[in-house]
Amino acid sequence: MIAYLEPLKLLIYDERAIPGTSSSGFGGFCECGGVMTQKTWHQNGELKILVSECENCWKIEALVFRGVDVIERENVKSFKRNELRDFLSVILTSTELEAVMNRWNEIEYNYNAYSRAKKRLEEMGLDLEKLMSEIIF
Ligand SMILES: [Zn+2]
Repeated sequence: MIAYLEPLKLLIYDERAIPGTSSSGFGGFCECGGVMTQKTWHQNGELKILVSECENCWKIEALVFRGVDVIERENVKSFKRNELRDFLSVILTSTELEAVMNRWNEIEYNYNAYSRAKKRLEEMGLDLEKLMSEIIF
């Protein structure tokens, strides 16, 4: 899954969170015929990845460049503030997600499950506290 966390401008690619630099301007044409606008550029080793959004159907795509060549074009699943919890539910087990939610709501939580969740996200380059502070329920 290629995912995009809108509020943090993070691209999840190869199970790694890659920070982006905001951009604008023409980002190519969508399958629907609409014009795509650049959102962010991400550097992943020697690869540059452009995330663009269609102004017509709101589809979000990632174009992966090596030099000037496009080597991959993929649909991106985008998560807005009110959808970040859905993103966590994809990444974490239900026990881990419950621990994270309980801790956030300041009720009793499973410490081991919480630690596992935090570690898993850290391995992807994600800061759980920062992510939680962006979530809208
Ligand atoms: Zn479109």
